[in-house]
Amino acid sequence: MPTAYLEEVNPWEAQVARSDVAAQKLKLDDGLWRILREPSREFIVHIPVQLDNGHLEVFTGFRVQHSIDRGPAKGGIRYTPNVTLDETRALASWMTWKCAVVNIPFGGAAGGVICDPDKMSKRELERLTRRYTAELMEVLGPEKDVPGPDINTDGQIMAWIMDTYSMHVHHTVTAVVTGKPLELGGSHGRVEATGRGLMIVCDEAVKRLGMSPDRTRVVIQGFGNVGSNAARLMRRRGYKIVGVSTSKSGLYSKNGIDIEALSLYYQRERTLEGFPDSEAIGSAELLLAECDILVPAALENQITSRNAEKVRAKILCEGANGPTTAEADEILVDKGVFVIPDILANSGGVTVSYFEWVQDRQGYFWTESMVNDHLQHTMRTAFMEVLKYAETHKVSNRIAAYMLAIDRVAYTLRQRGIYA
Ligand code: NAD
Repeated sequence: MPTAYLEEVNPWEAQVARSDVAAQKLKLDDGLWRILREPSREFIVHIPVQLDNGHLEVFTGFRVQHSIDRGPAKGGIRYTPNVTLDETRALASWMTWKCAVVNIPFGGAAGGVICDPDKMSKRELERLTRRYTAELMEVLGPEKDVPGPDINTDGQIMAWIMDTYSMHVHHTVTAVVTGKPLELGGSHGRVEATGRGLMIVCDEAVKRLGMSPDRTRVVIQGFGNVGSNAARLMRRRGYKIVGVSTSKSGLYSKNGIDIEALSLYYQRERTLEGFPDSEAIGSAELLLAECDILVPAALENQITSRNAEKVRAKILCEGANGPTTAEADEILVDKGVFVIPDILANSGGVTVSYFEWVQDRQGYFWTESMVNDHLQHTMRTAFMEVLKYAETHKVSNRIAAYMLAIDRVAYTLRQRGIYA
């Protein structure tokens, strides 16, 4: 791959390309920006795990804490074969900006383990998770760093993290991790939160552009936690979901896909292939299909300088972290695509994680409608604030979101003073 393209698709480079611009527009003091730009702590762990066949394997894991200026570090853990330290750094800083955009009192962190969960048994994943947690005991904690789910990690993995941490400190600490099952201190609405948040910001964008949900066609890349919940909730709201995909296959139907039926089909068959009344389509091709809203909800670097020109959607609502490169941003701006950037669009997940952390610490649990009402209020407010920054400073929605976030973190840091 050419070097320029390799740089374009490096998530850390993609992150700093936008945050540097935002810091310049804010005329942030150079020294202050140097502090905020770099992650504050990075951990690499090599985790021995006994496989079911008796062999010992050593996995490499990361945890990066980008900032604790506004509160405990907060961020997901992903299990993928190609997670890197640079990707984890980017995800950690995106978390700092995301928490600041929705104005919740967390800093940013991210973690990951290089592994392929498709090739591991449940027992192996449990041993991996417990040892990863044990290696990071000193740096995790409700007041220090609170992990949550991300790619290939779910409520069960969060439950093992909570249990391992609790065994080490000899009492139950539910607030050490979010995205737990309900019975273990989880929150109503957390599983759907990121998808619901996407719907809330799409509703706002559609209103603003004078469109209406029932005449809006949506394509969603990814049918995991984020994509499938966004599809289900947006369909119920009246949007017509015309395309969905997973890593293995994709579907398109100009008349709309019956998402409830597809969810049942996917649970049963573990594939989208063969679902009636739709055509098969590749995941990359689906990004360029005819639609009004495109929701990339799978991986980074899906919309790049190589395909941005061919995107046909009016609205790009980023469910995934970093699905669009900085080079593609400029092309989308020229095309007049209304971008709802990742650090705003997918912040519903961390917002409800914050509600979960609050509930765990209070020992008092909210109803689902309370969670959803608070989420709606938080995300609508953030959407308006980002758009206001965009209008005031005459910048794209993405740079506006970064400006709002960096402004908030820098303000806190200035008030606290720098211990240098
Ligand atoms: P997940 O593991 O539940 O699902 C990932 C989905 O992406 C799966 O359906 C997988 O098949 C699909 N996928 C992978 N490669 C693909 C490809 N090339 N084309 C099409 N689909 C592909 O993960 P998730 O939790 O839904 O996370 C998805 C994205 O959303 C990630 O970028 C994650 O960082 C981001 N995110 C997740 C949350 C959350 O609460 N889970 C919150 C904010 C952001």
